[in-house]
Amino acid sequence: MSVLEWQIATVREIRPETAKVKSFTFALPRWMKHRAGQHYDLRLTAADGYRAQRSYSIASAPEREGAIDLTIEHVEDGEVSTFMHETVTTGDRIELRGPIGGYFVWDAATQAAPLLLIAGGSGVVPMMSMLRHRAAAGARTPARLLFSSRTIDDVIYREELDTLSKKRDGLDVFHTLTRSQPSGWSGFARRIDDAMLGEVSGPIAKEALVFICGPTALVESAASSLERIGIPAARIKTERFGPTGT
Ligand SMILES: Cc1cc2nc3c(=O)[nH]c(=O)nc-3n(C[C@H](O)[C@H](O)[C@H](O)COP(=O)(O)OP(=O)(O)OC[C@H]3O[C@@H](n4cnc5c(N)ncnc54)[C@H](O)[C@@H]3O)c2cc1C
Repeated sequence: MSVLEWQIATVREIRPETAKVKSFTFALPRWMKHRAGQHYDLRLTAADGYRAQRSYSIASAPEREGAIDLTIEHVEDGEVSTFMHETVTTGDRIELRGPIGGYFVWDAATQAAPLLLIAGGSGVVPMMSMLRHRAAAGARTPARLLFSSRTIDDVIYREELDTLSKKRDGLDVFHTLTRSQPSGWSGFARRIDDAMLGEVSGPIAKEALVFICGPTALVESAASSLERIGIPAARIKTERFGPTGT
């Protein structure tokens, strides 16, 4: 069976992550182990035969068998994300195909270089698969996540990221909140810039493998910043989720 053949997955669980973001657990009849960072295509077909198809990164670790999690942000007026948020319920059957992608991927067993992960909004989803994989594999690869969100309430996977970073096993998580910050906030409070990337990448900059994912504008600006502070383009992998900025 090819990864490009559609299969009918069943929605086993739906969990809110933030006001605009939900995670969906899909049971897959033909589950196949993915690589952290890969995605699935999701296809909806209306009664009149009209179809819409979008890509969604896998959020869960490859170590989890038989099911995957997709985490979907509700884009205003978005065709597929609105349907997933407002219509889909547990037990529904949805067409998926995957896992897809061989470039924006990380494997704990074969890639030992320190990881620098830079995410904006739902761009954290493939990073979460990498960090869950890192934890499940018991890897101690040094890893730093810089995660840009609008407000504290928009931080996806906040508690799980806190828990993972408290293990003190070589993962450091840095947040920047671009719109508003709670009182006593000690993280960054602006859009990602050269100084922020210099500070976050500091100890691992010389050898880090970099993954950047999020809205197109954030990805392009972070990649240019990294090149300006001396990280070679060959070590930077990017994935663009959509046309708008944060
Ligand atoms: C490889 C890959 C992986 C992806 N993984 C995820 C993921 O894990 N989680 C996730 O939520 N999304 C992810 N996306 C984005 C996703 O595929 C859709 O583009 C998104 O859900 C919007 O689809 P829609 O049908 O709801 O909106 P559409 O009907 O396609 O668009 C409606 C409006 O929203 C704008 N728009 C489209 N996409 C976005 C966006 N991403 N952000 C802001 N505005 C947008 C459009 O310009 C249009 O004006 C991924 C995209 C790619 C290419």
